[in-house]
Amino acid sequence: MISRKMQSYVAGSSAIRAMFEEGRRMAAVYGPDKVYDFSLGNPNVPAPDAVREAIVGIVTQEDPVLVHGYMNNSGYEDVRERLAGELNRRYGTDYRAEHLMMTVGAAGGLNVILKTILDPGDEVITVTPYFGEYRSYVSNYDGVLVEAAADPVTFFPDPEDLGRKLNPRTKALILNSPNNPTGVVYPEPVLRAVAERLEAAERAFGHPIYLISDEPYREIVYDGAQVPWLPLLYRDTIVGTSYSKSLSLPGERIGYLVIPPDLADAEEVTAAANVAGRILGFVNAPSLMQRVVARCCGEKADVAFYDRNRKLLCDALAADGFTFVKPEGAFYLWIQSPTADERTFVKDAKEEERILLVQGRSFGCSGWVRLAYCVSHETVQNALPGFERLAKKYELSR
Ligand code: PLP
Repeated sequence: MISRKMQSYVAGSSAIRAMFEEGRRMAAVYGPDKVYDFSLGNPNVPAPDAVREAIVGIVTQEDPVLVHGYMNNSGYEDVRERLAGELNRRYGTDYRAEHLMMTVGAAGGLNVILKTILDPGDEVITVTPYFGEYRSYVSNYDGVLVEAAADPVTFFPDPEDLGRKLNPRTKALILNSPNNPTGVVYPEPVLRAVAERLEAAERAFGHPIYLISDEPYREIVYDGAQVPWLPLLYRDTIVGTSYSKSLSLPGERIGYLVIPPDLADAEEVTAAANVAGRILGFVNAPSLMQRVVARCCGEKADVAFYDRNRKLLCDALAADGFTFVKPEGAFYLWIQSPTADERTFVKDAKEEERILLVQGRSFGCSGWVRLAYCVSHETVQNALPGFERLAKKYELSR
């Protein structure tokens, strides 16, 4: 018999995964080239050659006992020193190895930090729409996820609404930019306004409110968009990232947390995060992959591949009359549903055109759908006539 808590997680388990499974089933029936699966953020761009070269170099040149062994729970010191140096070069910071903790992807990092800071009943705010897994991550540590509104047109956080949601029980705010599911990159003035609200709340309530910046898409931006380094705007920021998207290594489960030295209670948080990682059973991030990412500093997956899909989709869907947010980052398109209940549109797209999308309510925002364009260019091209027919069916005006 499974636990009551797990029963509720299973019941609410991700519609994204369910759609992905449906895509596989449909591909077996109709043929993979006749199903246009835009449901999952699984990169279709291969990892850069440097990753393979690094793996070969490590397993042939480095000491296998060291490469495959346990190490400090935070990860190999030389790896963290190397990554800290890269951050310092890019953002003018002064991080050292001890300010980084290697994690089991971005998800592992989020879980470590939430376990580290949450007491039962503590509130964690996030901005809608948001990565649906935050719900289960926060409730797993008996926290309460509180939804703050985004601007309904830009989908940037709304500092006014954030101000209303902050209260003495608030422990953290999770921000995600470039954003899944909107593709929006939060601009610096908006983030400064958010930081002001958080600072005022810290003063008013007399305890730290941590800003957890979940940024696995930092390296995937278009048209020169800038992603501000949040610890420079708000002192109590913890950054969590991964190489799942930037190096196309989602299955390898490698990422890191930055716990800056001037963060409130930084040493205590770092020490507790190490213990949290052990309790969660991660113990340490995958050892081989730690060494790989250190060797691949500065490398990234082919963003031009995604950009080609982005441009084609934006042009075609605009011509069809769809309303959507033009993405500046990540590989998602956030499309307004032509029906008030977006589940009807998702169903029609699937059943009539074999186009798989994800309902906005999975991200806490009904009336919209998410399209993940980290697929082959041909899949995008071949899906366009289906979108055109859907636009006609719903009488969207050009
Ligand atoms: N955060 C966001 C916003 C994501 O979209 C994802 C994955 O899609 C994650 C975290 C988890 O990333 P990882 O696979 O590195 O754990």
